[in-house]
Formats: sequence, structure tokens, C-alpha cells
Amino acid sequence: MSIPADALHAAAQQHGTPLYAYDAAELDASVARVRTAFGNARVYYAMKANPNLSILRRLHTQDVGFECVSAGEIARAAHVGATGENLIVNGPAKSPAEYALGAQLGATFIIDREEEVALLPPASRALIRVNPALNVSTHDHLATGAADSKFGVTPEQAPRIISALRAAGHTALGLHVHIGSAIRDAHDFTAAFARLNDLRPHTGPLPVLDTGGGWGIGADLPGIAREAHAAAATFGAQLWVEPGRSLVATAGTLLTRVVGTKTTGRPFALLDAGMTELLRPMLYGAQHPVTPLWQRESTSQWDLAGPACESGDLLGRNVTLPTPHPGDLLAIHEAGAYGAAMSSNYLTRPRPPELLWERSQWTVIRQRETPQDIWRAEESGE
Ligand SMILES: *Cc1c(COP(=O)(O)O)cnc(C)c1O
Repeated sequence: MSIPADALHAAAQQHGTPLYAYDAAELDASVARVRTAFGNARVYYAMKANPNLSILRRLHTQDVGFECVSAGEIARAAHVGATGENLIVNGPAKSPAEYALGAQLGATFIIDREEEVALLPPASRALIRVNPALNVSTHDHLATGAADSKFGVTPEQAPRIISALRAAGHTALGLHVHIGSAIRDAHDFTAAFARLNDLRPHTGPLPVLDTGGGWGIGADLPGIAREAHAAAATFGAQLWVEPGRSLVATAGTLLTRVVGTKTTGRPFALLDAGMTELLRPMLYGAQHPVTPLWQRESTSQWDLAGPACESGDLLGRNVTLPTPHPGDLLAIHEAGAYGAAMSSNYLTRPRPPELLWERSQWTVIRQRETPQDIWRAEESGE
């Protein structure tokens, strides 16, 4: 994140806090890192990480496709001009509207259970999501490739589903695996790809292998890419990937101001942002690096607490800061993925604005909501 501190101060001054700031250069650098590592693989952005239209447009112009998991996300993809070749529709419980919208655009569907063969629109293209039944090195809520997770079909079912797809007049494009998010240990990918390789004698060659996303910040992308390409080669397949976090996390910063301090059993710095703006610490125990944008002689450790009446509303624990005073500005980093996207209106808190820093200028890419925005749908008939 290379936005200068004075630009962050200026944004907070003009637009208020909390706010999300994104660095366009870092977004582009993230795409370049993935492209460099994965070479000729097709890249589909898992837009649940951050569905802001300006970010989607930026990725679309760089020929990145989209992986969508709801009718709303498919509508966003269509809104920015994505069509069939650039779209994957996924989800464990797709609705009739999601099949119809996907079919209308010519998307590829990811089959998550055997029954879907009969639910697909006629002549669909489909990938089969395989659950490799692994213990994955991430928070339980982020592990999708474990035997007891709800995702995918068992390796034993996959060959049968390929035959069923063909018999029903669909195109069985290939296999799909996505074992979770923010994965710490690259060996998890090795193990997942090995499970796929084991299926090769039972499936024959296939046009596509989709190895999903899940790469943690700082993951060895060239290493993961080498193994993913090797797995694809086993099937004679083209490699597809679906990064979410890797394309947007490091470009985003949540800016928040110190409201005050207090000490109960622990010393707290109270912030004007919390679980409603950034849920990851509460939901996944995620730890985000922070930078205090103030200086003072003495430093000590603080818990970072939000304004919600929820004791779990913490953005950090034992964070070393110069003594905070009201109004001081704190930058919470690596917040571009699953930050704004998971922000909520709980407590009738308007979601924060989002700003893009490009060529030394700010552009508002999402306005701050108002309380009226939040209750609009409750005032029926007006
Ligand atoms: C969420 C998701 C991704 C992206 O995961 P990241 O950890 O953000 O890279 C990719 N594919 C599928 C199927 C997903 O559900």
C-alpha cells in the first residue's frame, strides 16, 4: 500500500471516517503478480471479495473474468459488460433465477452436487467441484475442502457426474477444486491437486481444470502455479483459477479515527470503525496490520474496540501504538478483500464510502450511505 500519509489525512478530512481507501497501482500490481505466476491460465475474479463496480470494471478491462455466487453478483458482472466466456456461476444452493441468469449470459456453471445435473439449463457448460476431504490450514469457517464442509462432491461421485452431464446433453468441461480461503500452508494445495490427479484414470482427458483461489497474502504464487499447471497437464486441460483475496486485499485500507481511550481489565483504544465496517477479526479471528498516522513519545499496547454494543467488536488485540488521542487517524491494512464487501447496516450504521487513489488523486467509488438509504425499503408505497 503506497498511498502517502498526507493523502490519507486529506481523504479523512474531506470525506470523514470510517472510510475505505484503495490504491489503483496496487490493484494493477496484484493482477500482474497473478498473471506472471500463472502465465496462460484464465483468471476469474471471485467477486465476493470486493464487488465494487469500479474494481470490477478495472479488472474487466484487464481481461479478468468473474466468478459469481449469487444473482446479485451475476447482475454486477453483466452490468460491467462481462459475457459468457468471462463468467462462472457457482454456489452450493443455486436458485432458479441464478441458473436462468447464468444461462442467459452463457456462463459456465460449477456443479456442487449430483442433483444439479437435472437442474442445469439445456446444453450448459459445467465444471464439477470436487471436495478433496482434507484438513486445511485456515480458520474452520474458511475451510471449504474438508470432508465435513458443505462444498462439492466426493471424488468417487465425480466420474459418474461427468457421464451424467454428457448423457443429459451438457458439456462436462472438467473438474474444480477450491479448498478454502487465506490458506497458510502451500502443501494444502499439493494435497488437493494430488486428489484430482488420482481421478484422471476414471475421467479421461478433460478440457479445463479449475483450481479455485484461496491463496493467502504473501503466498508462494509461482509455487502454487507450478503445481496447478502440472495438475492441469495431467488432464490435458487448460488451467483456470479464481483468486479473490489475492487481487484486492493489499490494495485496501480502512481509515478510522480514535474516539477516545478507556481502561477496564484491559486498555482500549475506541475507534469509529468496528465489526460493521470490518467483520473479519470478529468472524475469523483475522489479524490486520495497522499503521498509526500520528506520533507521540510513549508507546504501549492497546486493544482496538469498535463502537458496537457487542463485546466481540474488536479490530485488534495488543497492538502497539503511540498514546492515542481523540481524532488520531489509524490505517488498517490488507482490508481490500472481504472488508467493504462484508460491511453491514447493523445498528443502522451507514456503510462507509470507498475511495480510489490513482495518479495522485482521489475518486469516490462508493458514497457514504445515509440513514435514509438504510430505511428506504421499509417505507413502502412512497
Ligand atoms: C471465495 C472463493 C474463491 C476466492 O477465494 P480467495 O480466498 O478470496 O482467493 C474462489 N473460488 C471459490 C469457489 C470461492 O468460493
